[in-house]
Amino acid sequence: MADTRHSRVLVLGGGVGGYVAALRAAQLGLDTVLVEGSRLGGTCLIRGCIPSKALIHAAGRFEEAGHGAAIGIGASPVLDLAKTLAWKDGIVDRLSNGVAGLLARGKIEVIEGWATFSDAKTCTVETKTGPVTLTAEHVILAAGSESVPLPTLKFGDDVISSTEALNMTALPKRLAVVGAGYIGLELGIAFRKLGAEVTIVEAADRILPRYDTALTRPVRRWLERNRVTLHLGAKVPGRDGEGRLAVETAKGETIALAADKILVTVGRRPRTEGWGLEAMGLEMDGAFVKIDDQCRTPTKNVWAIGDLVGEPMLAHKASAQGAMVAEIIAGHRRRFDPASVAAICFTEPEIVVAGQSPEEAKAAGEDVITGQFPFSASGRAMTLEAGEDGGFVRVVARKADQRVLGIQAVGRGIAELAGEFAHALAMGAVLEDIAGTIHVHPTLGESLGEAALVALGRGLHI
Ligand code: FAD
Ligand code: NAD
Repeated sequence: MADTRHSRVLVLGGGVGGYVAALRAAQLGLDTVLVEGSRLGGTCLIRGCIPSKALIHAAGRFEEAGHGAAIGIGASPVLDLAKTLAWKDGIVDRLSNGVAGLLARGKIEVIEGWATFSDAKTCTVETKTGPVTLTAEHVILAAGSESVPLPTLKFGDDVISSTEALNMTALPKRLAVVGAGYIGLELGIAFRKLGAEVTIVEAADRILPRYDTALTRPVRRWLERNRVTLHLGAKVPGRDGEGRLAVETAKGETIALAADKILVTVGRRPRTEGWGLEAMGLEMDGAFVKIDDQCRTPTKNVWAIGDLVGEPMLAHKASAQGAMVAEIIAGHRRRFDPASVAAICFTEPEIVVAGQSPEEAKAAGEDVITGQFPFSASGRAMTLEAGEDGGFVRVVARKADQRVLGIQAVGRGIAELAGEFAHALAMGAVLEDIAGTIHVHPTLGESLGEAALVALGRGLHI
């Protein structure tokens, strides 16, 4: 007979959404059980954010080492990819073990195995020692997402997803990337820096179609300067008779691309199959599980968070929703406000977006003013060799009360500015708050203060 365990809270999934929900629930005194079928840390820690950023960092180090001539540095770097992967895997192991330690400290019972729900509050987990039946008063679904395959290019052999791309033991000489979104560009650029010949095929007529063209222009320029071939407005009908990737270009010609690996990054979809979701009486919102602004599903005391419930599919959104749900279960009054969920694209140069772009604000009926400051006028950007890539910071504010509605930037090494952008939005800042903050000199952050001054008509350094 199966073991049974009843808890106040049952969390499905030990990714950044699920484990944070469990930690916060335990912190609030709720008896909590978490089920994970793979490794603690989920997509983000094991095969997403962390390993990709490690690889991107290593690729940046490699590329910079060989390109120091302009500032008087000469070197010929040599890549030991096995060592790079071992370093990356070491970080992943440390973080996954760290999550296990945090859960243990919180006295959260972790059940290892794949869960299948038979009704909204009951699941069975196939563990190494046999089946365990779990029931709970509250269920938090954090099953995450998976890579979308192309019908014409199934994953396998030389057709890979981001997971395999992050574990390649040999650098492909020729890499074809299908999809110029977050993953395609982040990894495509990293492999180019490491020396691969990279071709990117994108269905839309521009790269990173989620972002406005002004923000993506510097990235486009980097791709051109670094001889990354781009096919925009193109389709991939499949392989030709010789196994090459067939690409139907925007002009309607079909060309054949020889590639050692084909990385398919055309999006991710919520993991809604294979664990009994259909038995739980939930409603769907397109492909995602439908929730309200407290992450409640229509089934009483069943909550859903993270990639399972929709865009943006970002780690920090999943964690924020997880912590919020735990607090609501514990009796706190909370609602999820996505306005301050910033996003970073770790391309070259990096892009940061928070809140609304000028177009999005106008489309929402706002009358806006904007202020933009170029990194070419920033002393700190110059000392970081980051002034000449066309980067800038832009602030968008409501004309009537100067409330900041959005902040965006593109530039080398600007990812860490995301926190200040999100903070300004979360605090409901007006332009004077940003302009009046004494930014440390010399930092890239000074450029945000300058952008706010520009929006106020008082720009000093431009
Ligand atoms: P997941 O992290 O996917 O976790 C879900 C967990 O549930 C998994 O561990 C899975 O094994 C488990 N599970 C599912 N079903 C069951 C079941 N039936 N039984 C037991 N266990 C189950 N986001 C960022 O914010 N910044 C980045 O830089 C970034 N980079 C990324 C790079 C890549 C290559 C990828 C693929 C993603 C990246 N993301 C990034 C997105 C980020 O990883 C996700 O938004 C985040 O992991 C979502 O968290 P989650 O908890 O909702 O789901
Ligand atoms: P994406 O949605 O960012 O990009 C997919 C791209 O593929 C789009 O540009 C789309 O137009 C294109 N495309 C779709 N079908 C195509 C086809 N048949 N042929 C050619 N191009 C096609 O998706 P992704 O890059 O796979 O990333 C998935 C999610 O993971 C992102 O939405 C994001 O939420 C998350 N992520 C975040 C980060 C980060 O925060 N830095 C990094 C990586 C991934």
